[in-house]
Amino acid sequence: MKKILIIGAGTAGIDVAARLKHSGEKLSITIIDPAQKHYYQPFWTLVGAGLSRKEATERNMKDLIPNGVEWLAEKVIKIDPFQNQVETEKSGALHYDALVVCPGLELHFEKIKGLEDPTLPYEGVCSIYSYQTVDKVWENFHNFKSGQALFTFPNTPIKCGGAPQKIMYLFDAHLQRTNRRKDAQIFFTSAGQRIFGVPSFAQALNKVVVRKGIHTRFNHNLVEVDTKNKLATYCVSDSEGKQQQVTYEYSMLHVTPPMSAPQFVQDSPLAHKEGPSKGWLNADIHTMQSPEFSNVFAIGDVAAYPTAKTGAAVRKQAPVLVRNLIDHLNGRSLENNKKYDGYSSCPLVTEYGKVILAEFGYNDILLPSFPVIDMTKERYSMWLLKTKMLPVLYWDFMMKGRA
Ligand SMILES: Cc1cc2nc3c(=O)[nH]c(=O)nc-3n(C[C@H](O)[C@H](O)[C@H](O)COP(=O)(O)OP(=O)(O)OC[C@H]3O[C@@H](n4cnc5c(N)ncnc54)[C@H](O)[C@@H]3O)c2cc1C
Repeated sequence: MKKILIIGAGTAGIDVAARLKHSGEKLSITIIDPAQKHYYQPFWTLVGAGLSRKEATERNMKDLIPNGVEWLAEKVIKIDPFQNQVETEKSGALHYDALVVCPGLELHFEKIKGLEDPTLPYEGVCSIYSYQTVDKVWENFHNFKSGQALFTFPNTPIKCGGAPQKIMYLFDAHLQRTNRRKDAQIFFTSAGQRIFGVPSFAQALNKVVVRKGIHTRFNHNLVEVDTKNKLATYCVSDSEGKQQQVTYEYSMLHVTPPMSAPQFVQDSPLAHKEGPSKGWLNADIHTMQSPEFSNVFAIGDVAAYPTAKTGAAVRKQAPVLVRNLIDHLNGRSLENNKKYDGYSSCPLVTEYGKVILAEFGYNDILLPSFPVIDMTKERYSMWLLKTKMLPVLYWDFMMKGRA
C-alpha cells in the first residue's frame, strides 16, 4: 500500500483525508497534528459580535479523524522532500510516497511592538483571529464607552481577508443598537491600498463604509502599541514609498496580526525562496502539485495561491488535489483533470442580518453560486447562509469529504 502523509488536520487536512478514504484506492493514510481540538474559525467573527459562544466552534480532533485514517498527535518539525521524509518532534523521520502539506498559517502578534503576549491581556485590545482572544472582542463591544475604535489589517497575507472589516461593521451595528454610535469614531486602518481586492465588491463595501460614517486609512501598517497610554503607532507609506510614523489614540483596538507560513515550511525546499510569496508553499496554482517534487501537494492557507485564504477555497481545492494525487500515484497524467480556478468566497457581514456573499477566482473573476441575483447587494438570505447553512455544510459534509 502507498503511504500518504498529511501535515495538519485543520479544514484542509480532514477534508483531504476523508476524500482519500472514499476514493476506493488502497492507501495507508496518516494525518499528523498535535492539536486535540479542531475549530470552525469562520464563526469567530460571530463569537466576537456576541452571537455565539466560542466553545460552540470547537470539536474534539479525535471525533473528526475519518475511520481508517491514522492520527499521529505530534508536531512536524521538518520536511525533507529529497528523501521523501517528514520529521516529527517525537517519532523522528517518517517516510511517504505522497505528501499533502496543510498546516495552515501562524499568527504573529509579537511582531507588533508592545503586543508580545498573544493572549492580549491589554485593556481595550482584542482580536477575533485566535480562540484565546475572541471572547475579549465581545467584552470590548460591551464595555466601549466613547472615543476612537481602530480596526487594523497587516502588511502580510492573512486568512479570510474580509474578517477585519466584518467585525468592524458589527461593532458599528452594535453601537447603533445600543445608542452609543455618536460617541465613537471608527477607523479602518489598513496596510493595503483599498477596502477589498475584488473591484465590484470593493465598490459595494465603499458604500457601506460611507453609510456608516467609518473613516478609512490605507497604507497604514500597525507597528507598535503603547498599551498603557492606549496609543497605536503605524508606519505610513506615501505614493512615492516614503515612510513616516503616525500615532493614534484608541479606546478600542481590534488587531489583525501579521501572519506567515509555519517556520518548518519556510525552512523547507518546498517554499518560495524569493519574491512576494517568499516563505509560502510553492505549488502549481491549478494542479496544486509542487513543481520540483511531484509527490508533494499543497492546500489551504499555507499555499501561495493568488486568491483569498479561506475554508471556502479549501472546499474547491480538495477534490482537485485528491484526484491529482491519486492519478500521480497511478502514473497517470494530470493534464486533462479539472483545474482549481482560484475559487474563494467571503461572506462579508455588514450588519446583524446582512451579508454580501463575495465569490471570486484568480484574476478577480466573479464566480457566483447564484448567478441570477446581484451578489454585490447586502442580503438577509446570505446572512442565513452564513449563520445557519455554512456551519452544517462544514461539520456534516466538508469534514466528511462530501461537500
Ligand atoms: C476570524 C476568522 C474568520 C474566518 N472567516 C471565514 C469565512 O467566513 N469563510 C471561510 O471560508 N473561511 C474563513 N476563515 C478562514 C478559514 O478558517 C481558513 O482559511 C481555513 O481554516 C484554512 O484551513 P487550513 O486547513 O489551511 O488551516 P487550519 O484549519 O487553520 O488548520 C491547520 C492545522 O495544522 C495544524 N498544524 C500547524 N502546525 C503544525 C505542525 N508543525 N505539525 C502538524 N500540524 C500542524 C494545526 O494544529 C491545525 O489543526 C476565517 C478564519 C478566521 C480566523
